[in-house]
Amino acid sequence: MNNSALHFFRFCLLTGILICWRPGHPAAQTPCMTDAHVQRNFQRLPELPALRQLFQDSMKRAAVQTQPRTSVTIPVVVHVVYKSNLENIPDDQILSQLDVLNADYRLMNANAMTTPALFAPLAADMELEFCLAGSDPNGNPTSGIVRRETSWNNIGQLIAPDDRPRIHYTELGGDDAWDPEHYLNIWVCSIGGGILGFGTYPGTAPPAEDGVVIDPRYFGTTGLAVFNAPHHLGRTATHEIGHYFNLFHIWGDDELSCNDDDEVTDTPTQRGPYLGCPAFPQFSCGNSAMFMNFMDYTNDACMTLFTEGQKARIWATLNTVRSGLLESNGCSTTAVQPVKVRMSSLRISPNPGWETVTIDVDFIASSGVIQIYDMAGKLRISAPIDTNAEQIQINVAALPAGVFQIQILSEMGTISGFFVKM
Ligand SMILES: [Zn+2]
Repeated sequence: MNNSALHFFRFCLLTGILICWRPGHPAAQTPCMTDAHVQRNFQRLPELPALRQLFQDSMKRAAVQTQPRTSVTIPVVVHVVYKSNLENIPDDQILSQLDVLNADYRLMNANAMTTPALFAPLAADMELEFCLAGSDPNGNPTSGIVRRETSWNNIGQLIAPDDRPRIHYTELGGDDAWDPEHYLNIWVCSIGGGILGFGTYPGTAPPAEDGVVIDPRYFGTTGLAVFNAPHHLGRTATHEIGHYFNLFHIWGDDELSCNDDDEVTDTPTQRGPYLGCPAFPQFSCGNSAMFMNFMDYTNDACMTLFTEGQKARIWATLNTVRSGLLESNGCSTTAVQPVKVRMSSLRISPNPGWETVTIDVDFIASSGVIQIYDMAGKLRISAPIDTNAEQIQINVAALPAGVFQIQILSEMGTISGFFVKM
């Protein structure tokens, strides 16, 4: 094992998860950038692997005991960030994407009947629907579509000098997320490099960067998408939203091995992705491969199903670390969100920390309170904040080791961020 392989192996051990990107692997042939994106986030933000592990544990516990009862509707905000007019896709192309999601996640997709008989009994109605948000985080009516012009080409994978991805920040040429606890944020922007899109597994990105990013050429089924077969039927979003709800690629992490999989028992183990539109059956790792699953890399026209096992995994996510979406009133045109969590650039250092941490806030509040919650939602620290401070210092020595959410409530609103106590 050479040095970089050893370093990589250690990183996987430390993070305890199965989504490590293999250096030297043919990334250029990878239409979905999710795993490489997560890897980069972990290197950039040292507190994230611990948060991811905590979320993983929480979702695993939930997977044993939760079953969905009725379908729910997920409020979506689409951030169209464009340089050229072509990239400023029309509303009907966005609506065509919503139609695809509402078919694929309800097992109403027209090609579901082409699922081979071997797998048809496993095909699941995920009982998820999607709406364009009817109200914004302040309770104001909205179309659920935000349009912003940018001066950057291929902003989808541009990193600013301060190491943040430009697409997720208005001040960096992108567009700020809406409260990610209560909305699924989808950024539609040019990405480049043959990448169709990427998404964030729960706990693998800061809240301001949580969601999915999709190139406008592969979004929906009309407009630009018409010219971009075989990825012209809106299934890039179906796939990336699968990642957002914690589904892995169907082959797991290691494209060269039959020894790991996607942590879903009813999807057969397979070695690496299938591309194009293979004839059924194909054999991999001694199994008939489920290459028509939405979490493989086959052509849009050849993808037909999620499984019951994938459904259980998605609902374990919804019932735990993405439960804010279930409480959200974002589909309604008049609703105010039940919990006030605003996006801002709350910076906490050092993070991970030990005794005293410093919190930078971008606004000056005349009065307020800082609250620190553990991941079970229990309030651990509550203290008034110094008026007119741009920096807040707080002693965290009494906290046990773990991940905490820090909230600052003031007349200017509520902002929050995650903190790891070592
Ligand atoms: Zn993917």
